[in-house]
Amino acid sequence: MSPTIFGGADGARLIARQGRQRSVLFVSAGLLQPKKRDHPLARRQLYLNYGALGLATLCEVNGLDTLMVHGEHEHPSALVQRLHQQGRISADTQVLLSIPSFYALEWSRLFCEAVKRADRGARIVVGGRWVTGPDKAWLQGVLPHADLIVQGVGEQLLPGLLDFQGQWQAPADCGLNHRLVEGFARYQPSIETSRGCGRGCAFCEERAIPLEDLKAPTLIVKELQRIIADYGDQTVRPYFQSSYLVPKRRWAEQLADQVQRAGIDVAWRCESRVDSVKPNAVAALAAAGMKVIDLGLESASLQQLRHMNKAPEPRRYLDAASELLETCASHGIWVKLNVLLYAGETARTLDETRRWLDAHAQYFKGLSVGPVVVYGPNSHCADFLQELRLLGASPVDPASAQAGGVTQMHLSAELSSEQAELESLALSRRYMTQSDYFDLKCFSYYPRDYSHAQFERDVAACDVSRLPFRLPA
Ligand code: SF4
Repeated sequence: MSPTIFGGADGARLIARQGRQRSVLFVSAGLLQPKKRDHPLARRQLYLNYGALGLATLCEVNGLDTLMVHGEHEHPSALVQRLHQQGRISADTQVLLSIPSFYALEWSRLFCEAVKRADRGARIVVGGRWVTGPDKAWLQGVLPHADLIVQGVGEQLLPGLLDFQGQWQAPADCGLNHRLVEGFARYQPSIETSRGCGRGCAFCEERAIPLEDLKAPTLIVKELQRIIADYGDQTVRPYFQSSYLVPKRRWAEQLADQVQRAGIDVAWRCESRVDSVKPNAVAALAAAGMKVIDLGLESASLQQLRHMNKAPEPRRYLDAASELLETCASHGIWVKLNVLLYAGETARTLDETRRWLDAHAQYFKGLSVGPVVVYGPNSHCADFLQELRLLGASPVDPASAQAGGVTQMHLSAELSSEQAELESLALSRRYMTQSDYFDLKCFSYYPRDYSHAQFERDVAACDVSRLPFRLPA
């Protein structure tokens, strides 16, 4: 079956259904295997698809029968069978499949096939802008059972996609209704705090998407109150979702003040750049509940920082990083650093990064290390691949971009893809203990009812050579 654009055959079919409201089923695509390393711990991780949940929340606000399901590591056929038996997939269902990453494509293809096998009348709309944006025609070829592929941000398109009859409501303060998520209590909640970035890092899809304003503290407090009410207590650990959080001191102080006046005592996590959270805002952020911050350091090699266009003045960037790390540590905030092994990486550049990390090891709790990966089919990634080639990198499999939208790289003549994986694991293990890893993962990614005893059983079942942390002596 070929996909059609909205208003074509599907539009006609929808019109024929007027008067009969379809239920809406949001599905966040899962993975056939974990995207990095496959071991029992990796299969425990949960990622709340907060973008799709925002759309689901709007549907519910507008009175539609709405459910959201995460594919996680469940096989798509088994998931469809389960949902079909529950009456959640039928000719009256709009299935909105959100694909958060190219790694989820094969899962998505099997899912669409299974939905059409279960009921050919169910309509499948595919979204997820990082995956649908690069090349719609290519994606239609990969997902032939999808009825419609939507590019861009979904909010404005939603009423048209659903053929909604009436006045569509989109209140600015509706936040996220976590209770729409099947098994919501297992997931740590999210609060979307800002969108976009525009700081130009060569490897990042947000490099040219302008930064929007931070959400007002009053709205964040309102969302925290709703989360506490929905989950029933203050043990939740929300993730403040922004690719690039830039909190000014004044904003942080207002947030701290309002959080405290509302009697909220919830620890939260966020992500930013090392040179964008000003140290003078950290005390107020800590008072507002910030406990963990993920910082995209990427490298401490001056050459590599320039190659990835991370910072025009790498020395100043690293000085800012030093100051922020020290300040966070002095306020009891856990820092997790992200390090990216990039095109042109060599033993020398790795050593530069390692020496900087050694000098700051007491200020961060963990780090996540991985090599650059190129996403999208040829039409999308050719220029970036050429840029990486000029820096000395080469694709492991030149056909993989077109086949599945993911290209692994040999980083230089000195550092193959396999060696980069070993170096990534070695660097993580150098600084991160098993208990640091558990604390950080438990805070945001493991199911809320996942125990330390279960973690230890999972560790025992893993191939230790694939784990990114040191086992206790
Ligand atoms: S600062 Fe972060 S979000 Fe912004 S372009 Fe760079 S990597 Fe992307």
